Amino acid sequence: MAYVVTQSCCSDASCVVACPVNCIHPAPGEPGFAEAEMVFIDAGTCVGCGACVTACPVGAIVPDTRLREDQRPFVDLAAEYYDVFPHRDRTPVALVPRQRRLRRPGPFRVAVVGAGPAGLYAADELLRHPEVEVEVFERLDVPHGLARFGVAADHVETRRVARLFDQITAQPGLRLHLGVEVGRDVTHEELETRFDAVVHATGAPADRRLGVPGDQLPGVLGATALAEWSNAHPARRDLALQVAPAAGGRAVVVGAGNVALDAARLLVGPLVGAREVLVLGRRGVDAAAFTTPELVGLAGLADASRPDPVDVVLEAGPAPGDGVRARLLAELATRTPVPGRPRVVLRFDAPVAEVTGDDRACGVRLVDGSLLEADLVVGAIGQDWAPVVHDRGRVRPGVYVTGWAKRGPSGFLGTNKSCAQKTVAALLDDLDAGPGPALPVPAGPPRRVRALLTGRSPR
Ligand SMILES: Cc1cc2nc3c(=O)[nH]c(=O)nc-3n(C[C@H](O)[C@H](O)[C@H](O)COP(=O)(O)OP(=O)(O)OC[C@H]3O[C@@H](n4cnc5c(N)ncnc54)[C@H](O)[C@@H]3O)c2cc1C
Ligand code: SF4
Ligand code: SF4
Repeated sequence: MAYVVTQSCCSDASCVVACPVNCIHPAPGEPGFAEAEMVFIDAGTCVGCGACVTACPVGAIVPDTRLREDQRPFVDLAAEYYDVFPHRDRTPVALVPRQRRLRRPGPFRVAVVGAGPAGLYAADELLRHPEVEVEVFERLDVPHGLARFGVAADHVETRRVARLFDQITAQPGLRLHLGVEVGRDVTHEELETRFDAVVHATGAPADRRLGVPGDQLPGVLGATALAEWSNAHPARRDLALQVAPAAGGRAVVVGAGNVALDAARLLVGPLVGAREVLVLGRRGVDAAAFTTPELVGLAGLADASRPDPVDVVLEAGPAPGDGVRARLLAELATRTPVPGRPRVVLRFDAPVAEVTGDDRACGVRLVDGSLLEADLVVGAIGQDWAPVVHDRGRVRPGVYVTGWAKRGPSGFLGTNKSCAQKTVAALLDDLDAGPGPALPVPAGPPRRVRALLTGRSPR
């Protein structure tokens, strides 16, 4: 029996470290790891010990004996990968890095702003050092950021990462302040003068607008806002009215990345109940940004054994190539929809010129002049993000940045782990260097922060 990595893999590489026979690649440090959509298990070498299953925070690994039919392409994907990259050296690579020890005795107190994946991974890295205590400030009443409010509800396995984050926040050296917005309830300066260091992990603020006439009309939403509404984000409750007309109707999703596919699945699912969702890619199908694991998941929606099958149709010639992805796309291009079933239609080379409508969006006009009617228009073209100048996460000594706030909106959940490790390494360098020009001395004990917050944040 061999094990297989399936569906949405968050690329944090915990499985790679756990594997006794070094058969999960690409591993951190190997070419392609940073850009990899997922990691692959070499079926020929896997000894079926299951250590990787325990290590994986998102339940992405299953034995090949338990694969569903629609997960079979993942076996071919792994075989395809090892054909190109055999990784013949199976010596366990001892990827567990040697634990760094601080040279100065501490105690050190670090404030982390934002309890999303990046902030919590940074807190976890810091708490490896017994000299460090961490206080995390989160503006919402619940932690986990987009791992809670962005990741699609039907990505059940990925959402299990919440268990890992709960373990992080349960550590004795961590104090979590919920319902505290830094910049409103407590100022940046107040934190900087009370802590040895402040790590900003506030994510990327908002969906990028479509940037065409009509993109501000009611009935035009961002895909992250839609995902947040579907996941009961407290600030998105009023979107129900905007989404309602799509029930039994047609929605257009502009964009062709993973978040666009999340939006399409959500719109044809039971929460919204759209009859048809048209996903529009600006360029050709070979330039589509969705990852192959997400495409496998989308193609599987048509499986007739599912409770509510959804047709998925590709309106384009298949992408060139003969790999698993190209074969899957070619197969989608030949599918015939079943009348009456909800469907997702993927259309490429379809740049949008305008959102049409007077007081509410009623469709889009493409650059080629064609008009597409729609009851809802969803933009899935990324997030706005203001770059922060930093060096390995150090904005200046004592102030650091990590996650989407540092890199912009890119990568998987696990990418924030390696990102946090780099930022924390810079922070530890400064703690080691000691007070002085490298690191300002905190002006007051941090326990006063609690007193500071009393009366400011009602929660
Ligand atoms: C719609 C969507 C779906 C996604 N699905 C997946 C998926 O299936 N798999 C996957 O691997 N990745 C997915 N991602 C990517 C993943 O969510 C991100 O990589 C990750 O959430 C980024 O972490 P972050 O901590 O930098 O930002 P965020 O998750 O945005 O967290 C930032 C936190 O900071 C808080 N905050 C902001 N400002 C302040 C302030 N001033 N004071 C206090 N707190 C503040 C916010 O409330 C938030 O909790 C998805 C992203 C989106 C948008
Ligand atoms: S089951 Fe064991 S041998 Fe196989 S990939 Fe997982 S950790 Fe490695
Ligand atoms: S999510 Fe992480 S632990 Fe799970 S398979 Fe992917 S890289 Fe391995």
